[in-house]
Amino acid sequence: MRNTGLGGWPARRAMMTPQRTAFVFAGRSITYAEVHDRTTRLAAQLRASGVGAGDRVAYLGRNHPAFVETMFAAHLLGAIFVPLNFRLAVPEVAYMLDHSGAETLIYAPECADVVHALPEDGPRHRVPLGEEHYEPWLAQGDPTPIDTPVDLDDLALILYTSGTTGRPKGATLTHGNLVWNSFNLLLGVDVTSTETTLISAPLFHVAALNQTLLPTFLKGGRSVIMPSWDVDECYDLIEKHGVTWMFGVSTMFAAFARSPRWAEADLSSLRHLMAGGASVPAALIRTYQERGLVFCQGYGLTETAPGATFLEADQSERKVGSAGVPVFFSNVRVVRADGTDAAAGEPGEVLIQGPNVTPGYWRDPEATRAAFSDGWFHSGDLAMLDEDGHLYVVDRVKDMYISGGENVYPAEVEAAIFEHPAVAEAAVLGVPDAKWGEAGHAFLVLRPGALITAGELRDFLRPSLAAYKIPAHVEVVDELPKTGSGKIHKLALARRFT
Ligand code: ATP
Repeated sequence: MRNTGLGGWPARRAMMTPQRTAFVFAGRSITYAEVHDRTTRLAAQLRASGVGAGDRVAYLGRNHPAFVETMFAAHLLGAIFVPLNFRLAVPEVAYMLDHSGAETLIYAPECADVVHALPEDGPRHRVPLGEEHYEPWLAQGDPTPIDTPVDLDDLALILYTSGTTGRPKGATLTHGNLVWNSFNLLLGVDVTSTETTLISAPLFHVAALNQTLLPTFLKGGRSVIMPSWDVDECYDLIEKHGVTWMFGVSTMFAAFARSPRWAEADLSSLRHLMAGGASVPAALIRTYQERGLVFCQGYGLTETAPGATFLEADQSERKVGSAGVPVFFSNVRVVRADGTDAAAGEPGEVLIQGPNVTPGYWRDPEATRAAFSDGWFHSGDLAMLDEDGHLYVVDRVKDMYISGGENVYPAEVEAAIFEHPAVAEAAVLGVPDAKWGEAGHAFLVLRPGALITAGELRDFLRPSLAAYKIPAHVEVVDELPKTGSGKIHKLALARRFT
């Protein structure tokens, strides 16, 4: 096979395990042979509509097997897949389509209003999913196997970072980045061919796609695809299909544990839970431990495909708060501002190097240059390494604020607030302050029926935090804005103060 990229995966799996289930979606099972057949037909139709090597093919919609078909079909032709966040507004989608230069857009019916409102000079070829257009179009595709030469260094994905820090950038990932990330993941999590993986996070985000769906596919396991995150459906699917592993960000795992079904549900099939994308509060780890469930954890970024460090589940008690050690084939350093290595316990910026690291940002040579020095990728995250080389993420460099000359890391303050039983979610920001330069503003979502005053919260924090870290302002809100990947959207909160 000349296609050494992901486009060849369905054919290889169809040869090895044709009758095994690849995907379960809406109560229906799809075998590896079917995935191969449908992907080949779709690729033939895309080729007939003009898609070739290096072209961009975009997808807009909730999680659906068509997401994966579109990706593999694009990769069969050597084209680049551009998954888009279905929660974005028209100008945001228009920006990403224009910037990526995608000429083809496959979209779900729930996104039709957005697609109809896009500028006319957007993608030339727009195909809505469903029985009317997509299905007959795909069925008419030529099923003759396609074998376009694709190299591991060719681009596979453009992923627009969710923009928690500003205008989205198109992080590119090569086929090699994705393959090596899968290897790194499989060396950490014991995924088997009998795995039943729940795809609960959005597939347009690097973690759901690369940390769960692709490694499961590579091993020939089955992925139960959930259209979008829903706590009740998550319980239903775990119980119905005997889900063995799932990935989530900590806000998802916190919501799962707050469900009235937490105490009674049959969760005995779950073998691995993986938390990443944001720090996991110690209180949450304990809640899961009390229920007999242990997290493996990881740290990473879209730009590192994403896994950069990994903490084995059996280390989670010994190394509470750590995101683990570098994944098998990558290197991680923590450096001072002058580029020298920080001592154990000293905070510095995380740099990453390895075959999973992006070659750069799409059509943005300046951002690409700024992100690398001497072949090391600059994460923009502050962290410490301990004596054993375990990484402890402190916060994003840009989230840190200075109050009365002292550095405050919101993540540390949030973790302390999270220990209070009344608090369901917390986000802390540095806001302008006449006396201290900047002061903390805490946004809280309370548990149902719980009450807490600003004074009570400050009294609670006093034994564990220095006075300058205790938020000057405390505001209770009904909900916190989230990014597409489910993390708290700090930029949206910060906009209130500009
Ligand atoms: P942006 O758009 O600003 O790049 P994002 O959240 O959309 O942010 P992602 O690539 O999804 O981008 O997330 C990467 C970031 O998530 C990391 O830079 C880090 O700040 C945070 N992160 C990931 N894993 C962890 C972890 N285990 N602990 C703490 N923070 C983490």
